[in-house]
Amino acid sequence: MLSHGLEYLAIPGPSVIPNRVLQAMHQPSPNIYAGHLGDVIKTVKKDLNTIAGSSGDVALYASNGHGVWEAALANIVMPGETVLFLATGQFAFHWAILARSLGIDAKIITFGNRATIDLDKVRDVLTRDSNHKIKAICVPHVDTATSVLNDINALRQTINELNHPALLCVDIIASLGSDRFEMDNWGVDVAVAACQKGLMTPAGLAFLFFGQKGAAARTQLNQVSAYWDWNIRASTDQIYASFFGTPPTQHLFGLRTALDMILYEEGLETVLYRHKVLAQTIWAALDAWRHPKGLRMTLPNSDIRSHAVTSIEAGSQNGARLQNWTTQNVGLTLGCGLGMAGNSDPECRDYFRIGHMGHVNGHMIMGALGAIDAGLKALDIPHAQGALDAAASVIAKATKYPNFVAHGNGHVHR
Ligand SMILES: *Cc1c(COP(=O)(O)O)cnc(C)c1O
Repeated sequence: MLSHGLEYLAIPGPSVIPNRVLQAMHQPSPNIYAGHLGDVIKTVKKDLNTIAGSSGDVALYASNGHGVWEAALANIVMPGETVLFLATGQFAFHWAILARSLGIDAKIITFGNRATIDLDKVRDVLTRDSNHKIKAICVPHVDTATSVLNDINALRQTINELNHPALLCVDIIASLGSDRFEMDNWGVDVAVAACQKGLMTPAGLAFLFFGQKGAAARTQLNQVSAYWDWNIRASTDQIYASFFGTPPTQHLFGLRTALDMILYEEGLETVLYRHKVLAQTIWAALDAWRHPKGLRMTLPNSDIRSHAVTSIEAGSQNGARLQNWTTQNVGLTLGCGLGMAGNSDPECRDYFRIGHMGHVNGHMIMGALGAIDAGLKALDIPHAQGALDAAASVIAKATKYPNFVAHGNGHVHR
């Protein structure tokens, strides 16, 4: 009844795509052997490096995030070698399952669904690995299922303190362009990303960043799939070789426009600040709604919450009920819970997520929160009053005092 109008997909990827990105894609294919497209590829690589804080190489793939997971593994380890995965939610598990299907010995340390990496546990495992069998440590920067933000810099320090030679390989698919990531400064060797989250482009392009240590590891392998090989893709000037086949031209045009918007119109620092304020707006509403039988954020500690996605526990199948209600009644699609509950709730109906990465602004987030507030009332889900007030105050204060920080958050740079 009230759902006709602009639909809003507030799931943690694919994110909202700007009309300008869609329009930029709406072009006939250009020559794929010479001309303008070569410049687009070159500038896209340079700008991706800027957003990732990387001065190394970047290889492009016509794939989703799962594809670049495989690409990363194919360039750093051989079947039979050992990789350590650090799981703070679902995504390291799925990456590890993929690794096992390639014959890689995937070891997993799990930290549950509500906590960041415990560095002492990592230290234990690495200390016991005195023969340095672990070739790489794979970890998500942000786990999109739990919304946990891991401190990659601290992880690097721990690995360094132990003089362990493992490569540090980070999944920044959810975080790139939303949460601050500094590949060089944090000593990350390999990073994987994709275009459909913070980068606001339809799924289908993925990126593999690698520095000198990653490149050196690649040369130790005696066999690498030519399709996944990052060397060919990263070093060539030939358009056709950049994608090991026909390039996804329209996607590249879309991404070019998205990168223009992020880097040359809004500016990366402002983009990161916008994500921080919008995340805090959502957190303020959730704090205010709080009720013993109502909604709560799955992460009480704001220091380990991502600015890209928020995971919420709603109890008694209320996550699924709210999702259905907002989709059917007001045109807002919220993200489903993912892996948060065990066998008692395999479909995670007690949970939902709000995706707030990419092309979102104050009125969209206020609209989403207003829609959730209406849903809580319509479904008789217990909640306290004042959430929209609290949310509006965060936005108002952020515009008045650009340095305002509603919650203590160790990752704030502005
Ligand atoms: C979305 C996501 C993926 C998977 O990407 P696909 O494009 O769906 O294959 C992997 N890791 C993280 C952290 C993600 O957010």
